[in-house]
Amino acid sequence: MRVAIAGAGLAGLSCAKYLTDAGHTPIVLESRDVLGGLVAAWKDSDGDWYEVGLHAFFGAYPNMLQLLKELGIEDRLQWKEHTLIFNQPEKPGTLSRFDVPDIPSPFNVIASILRNKDMLTWEQKIRFAIGLLPAVVRGQKYVEDMDKYSFLEWLKRQGVGERVTSDVFIAACKALTFINPDEVSATILLTALNRFLQERYGSKIAFLDGSPTERLCSPIVDYIRERGGEVRLNAPLKEILLNPDNTVKGYLIRGLNGAEDEVIAADSYVSAISVDPLKAILPKPWKQMEFFQKLEGLEGVPVINLHLWFDRKLTQIDHLLFSRSPLLSVYADMSNTCRKYANPDRSMLELVLAPAKDWIAKSDEEIVAATIAELEKLFPDHFGGDNPAKLLKSHVVKTPRSVYKATPGRQQYRPAQVTPIANFYLAGSYTMQRYLGSMEGAVLSGKLTAQAISEAFPVAISSNLQTLTRPPATNAATA
Ligand SMILES: Cc1cc2nc3c(=O)[nH]c(=O)nc-3n(C[C@H](O)[C@H](O)[C@H](O)COP(=O)(O)OP(=O)(O)OC[C@H]3O[C@@H](n4cnc5c(N)ncnc54)[C@H](O)[C@@H]3O)c2cc1C
Repeated sequence: MRVAIAGAGLAGLSCAKYLTDAGHTPIVLESRDVLGGLVAAWKDSDGDWYEVGLHAFFGAYPNMLQLLKELGIEDRLQWKEHTLIFNQPEKPGTLSRFDVPDIPSPFNVIASILRNKDMLTWEQKIRFAIGLLPAVVRGQKYVEDMDKYSFLEWLKRQGVGERVTSDVFIAACKALTFINPDEVSATILLTALNRFLQERYGSKIAFLDGSPTERLCSPIVDYIRERGGEVRLNAPLKEILLNPDNTVKGYLIRGLNGAEDEVIAADSYVSAISVDPLKAILPKPWKQMEFFQKLEGLEGVPVINLHLWFDRKLTQIDHLLFSRSPLLSVYADMSNTCRKYANPDRSMLELVLAPAKDWIAKSDEEIVAATIAELEKLFPDHFGGDNPAKLLKSHVVKTPRSVYKATPGRQQYRPAQVTPIANFYLAGSYTMQRYLGSMEGAVLSGKLTAQAISEAFPVAISSNLQTLTRPPATNAATA
């Protein structure tokens, strides 16, 4: 069966990959000239890569790890020491570590918290551990119920003091969602903590060994093409064309550079585009439906990713770092962490600036200048004195609408992959799946969509009687 998928981010590519596995023929239509959506990357005129986002992979990403294994590229993940490393703003240039010992979970994570002397008092550790108990004992149901609170409200309800918020969790919230603890839903942090507590290597971090477009997305595309599927760049979905019964008749693709628009017809259709552009092209009759109206409750959050190349090595640390700076979230020296970006003599820092709402409209020069001012605190040895580190070049990538903004109450707006339209499905990290708006969430959502399509259209019928294949009247599991 032919399935048209709009969007070649990880959700669209994962959906196409699993559809080919099930014997279907996907055609992926991506608006831009680059694969990957939020994991896209470009090469500049010097041959250096720059990316939409600094991307860390976690041990608690089973679907991503499975996908890499199925593609035979799991060795492209460079696993780092099992530790979380934080800057200490009150002691510029120093770091605090949560080293996770290689013992079963949750004792490994508990031991890492107990052994850290810099960031939490004993009282805070005990209160936080007690506060986490319901999440551990009552599981995901409790975690979902906490969506009514911001993470800051949840911490206060547990009697955990303000310092914890300023110490550890601002950094964690900014890293996971690009917003602060007073804005982020408690469900988000509790979901992540639960995974880390339940899986021995859940909080272990890896970096890809090169750019995600080249090292992750391209192999998925090769896999799809080798099995008869198609992936087209520069193919923006302009309009969803409807049949009289409001099912999809075709995808109208905008012709670029003077070319005619083109209709792509298929047996089933998937939107794997992010939620903001999807809302903009929803057909009028669908906008009346409660399922699609709920999408109004979701919107992408702004974030900025910076790449700074320096004339010297600023650090030898081969890991993700939580800056704990007001401007920045996480960062890494990619010349240490990533094989293809390696340089023994010069640092290339990749840094996430979040929350970015007040910065997204500013010029690249202003953003770089403010970031360098923060680096003076993170690397005082290299930026003070007579011979400060010199910035050789920079790239700033602004994403005004990235992953959905995970404020309290959003869970109810996240749609299922199966829609009330018989031949139309959704994929994307914003759709409802067990993980956050993340690479893992995107891959899982695509897989769930492929599963739903394969269940609704068993391949024996679709492949043997291709011309007779018609969508069923309603989806089996209408949300
Ligand atoms: C700065 C940053 C850092 C991040 N760090 C991490 C991290 O460390 N770990 C992690 O797990 N996740 C991280 N993420 C989140 C992760 O990148 C996303 O959750 C995931 O990649 C989303 O994939 P997706 O396929 O759901 O959506 P997207 O990647 O948004 O894909 C949607 C695709 O649809 C295309 N599209 C849009 N409109 C149309 C149209 N009309 N027609 C056709 N195509 C269209 C877009 O161009 C895009 O390619 C980060 C994100 C950012 C921005």
